[in-house]
Amino acid sequence: MAKITLNNLAHSYVDNPESDEDWALKEMTLEWEDGGAYALLGPSGCGKTTLLNIISGLLKPSTGSILFDQQDVTELTPEQRNIAQVFQFPVVYDTMTVYDNLAFPLKNRNLDQATINQRVSEVAQMLELESVLNKKAAGLTADGKQKISLGRGLVRSDVNVIMFDEPLTVIDPKLKWLLRSKLKELHRRFNFTMIYVTHDQTEALTFADKIVVMEQGKVLQVGTSQELFEQPQHTFVGHFIGSPGMNRIEVTAKDDGFYAGNTRLPINKSSTPYNHAKSLSIGVRPEHVYFSDQGLDVKINKCEDIGRYKLANIQFDDTELKLLASSEQALPESSGRVNFDPKFTHLYVDGWRDNEWAILE
Ligand code: ATP
Repeated sequence: MAKITLNNLAHSYVDNPESDEDWALKEMTLEWEDGGAYALLGPSGCGKTTLLNIISGLLKPSTGSILFDQQDVTELTPEQRNIAQVFQFPVVYDTMTVYDNLAFPLKNRNLDQATINQRVSEVAQMLELESVLNKKAAGLTADGKQKISLGRGLVRSDVNVIMFDEPLTVIDPKLKWLLRSKLKELHRRFNFTMIYVTHDQTEALTFADKIVVMEQGKVLQVGTSQELFEQPQHTFVGHFIGSPGMNRIEVTAKDDGFYAGNTRLPINKSSTPYNHAKSLSIGVRPEHVYFSDQGLDVKINKCEDIGRYKLANIQFDDTELKLLASSEQALPESSGRVNFDPKFTHLYVDGWRDNEWAILE
């Protein structure tokens, strides 16, 4: 397995990129630890597949370089990079048995039969394919075939990195959870460096130790699920992670504090001047907004019971906010006051979190 370094990497599909939009990947420098389980998470079109294809060698970046440990692999083919890749749709040899499909990458490397048997049986057991090992792959369902693809990706122990591009798309929802846990278990057991591409936050958060959140070709944050949840570095991360996502309130800075419209927010102003900022906003998750005796006067538009929680849609001036309360809590009916948990209230300057700012009140 290898540490992966991306140095000033950027990619454009057009010949002479001029504007920002011409770059499918904006310049990035990142280091991914050897043995780490990473997820690349972001909405459709944000550049996840482009980045994955650059790391695997299917695509050459317009600028920058890729290192596996100390070796510059930018000019190497996928085969020379020694990686395993699992795609969205199954890639199997229909006329071969499940066993032969799984053994294929090992036979190609001329491993001895005993090692092949051992690895195939280990992976087959993990993916619950033991009972169909002697069947032709053609007879399997889409789920079964994708399990073979996953198995083929996992069967070699000598690869630098294993990459998954939305591998559970064709998998039945009930099986998805099981396979995700299996991948996690495999990671714990063998310490592979793994990169898992998805637009589904649940998949990313359950699979990965570190999540790389992307939007419009940019990496906005690399962090654990807790870091993304508690300290989103960009408003997009706050909004994209969490269900519902982080509330965002546009504010202006005045001498005595932050204002949303004409309402002063119940938080302190930092001493930093924000004259240079094009936009200022406060971010706070629905979990960290609560009804209180003091605070902002709000109207309650709607309140829903969502299992263990109540979700209130509240409003002050023109700003709509979401508030999550426990299901036992009695909520006011039409109006009330709300406050924000200071530990989890953030200030964003032009979309980026001001890490110097902390609420003192
Ligand atoms: P999805 O989740 O839909 O697969 P993604 O996050 O993987 O999306 P990419 O497929 O990497 O995103 O696409 C990033 C940007 O590059 C998009 O604007 C896309 O239209 C563009 N793009 C991707 N492949 C090509 C290509 N072969 N030629 C030109 N533009 C491309």
